[in-house]
Amino acid sequence: VLILVPEFFASLKELGSAFHTGRGSVAAAKRVQEELEEDELPVGWGKETFKNPSMPPTIELQNLSFSYGGERTALDNVSTVIPPMSHVAIIGPSGAGKSTLLNILSGLIRPESGNVLLDHKSMATYSEEAWFTQISYISQNPYIFSGTIKDNIILGVSENVSDLEVRMAAEKAGISHMIERLEKGYDTAVGEGGRGLSGGEKQRVALARAFLKKPTIILFDEPTVGLDLKTEQILQQSMKELGQKATVITVAHRLHTIKEADSILLLSHGQVKASGTHEQLLRESVDYQNMVMTQQGGRAE
Ligand code: ADP
Ligand code: MG
Repeated sequence: VLILVPEFFASLKELGSAFHTGRGSVAAAKRVQEELEEDELPVGWGKETFKNPSMPPTIELQNLSFSYGGERTALDNVSTVIPPMSHVAIIGPSGAGKSTLLNILSGLIRPESGNVLLDHKSMATYSEEAWFTQISYISQNPYIFSGTIKDNIILGVSENVSDLEVRMAAEKAGISHMIERLEKGYDTAVGEGGRGLSGGEKQRVALARAFLKKPTIILFDEPTVGLDLKTEQILQQSMKELGQKATVITVAHRLHTIKEADSILLLSHGQVKASGTHEQLLRESVDYQNMVMTQQGGRAE
């Protein structure tokens, strides 16, 4: 069940930790409790907390491998170090393992072999609450539960938030106009899985969550489909602002994101084919040259 619906579990777990610590809306917590009883959560956690939770931890990937059970390996011996506050672009063709890497970093799935170290300690030694407080995962299909838009925006936020803060977060995420046009505004009910919201709107709800949460690590799976110019600009501006105080790891399709990154990780068939800055890779990697050349205006897929 787990691997078929990763985003659902990621969000369920995020909700779940909000529930266990008495956070989030009561209605949401009740629903999550019911869901938690039905589905056993797969990932084990420890008790460790972060010494300085306002600073992003150093992230070390050590020989990560993962497969979904078939013959193909989704990730094959991936290693890299991601220093605090750095902005990393993960690129590569469709099926290369990019989203799988984000799923592992999110804590949703555990590598089959290898390890993720946070501040030099295995990720599994930290409590899930400690980790979910640090990260926001803006996946390609963010989990939306059945409730109001407001409840969905404050998902996973630790403190009580005012309506004004919710509105400001929505505005920064570029979704306030759409919400305010609705008859019931922020109190509009959205269905399980975000019925009534487009894919882009779901991602903007996830962005609004991130603005409220102020995480030190942001995982962002950039949309592959063409966005209108205005939406592109909003996403770009949002990520820039969120990235001022956070490590940002983006599965990137836009040339702009790739060029701006401090380092680029080029994946192919689950393996790291090249890593470095845009300038380095242009000089050193034929694979990279080919990718950038075929992109021209900006999209890898
Ligand atoms: P990318 O994000 O680079 O397109 P993914 O990480 O989604 O690649 O996928 C890597 C490999 O794992 C692909 O071969 C893909 O078909 C497979 N895969 C991804 N998700 C699942 C899943 N939930 N169940 C089975 N196989 C999967
Ligand atoms: Mg993907």
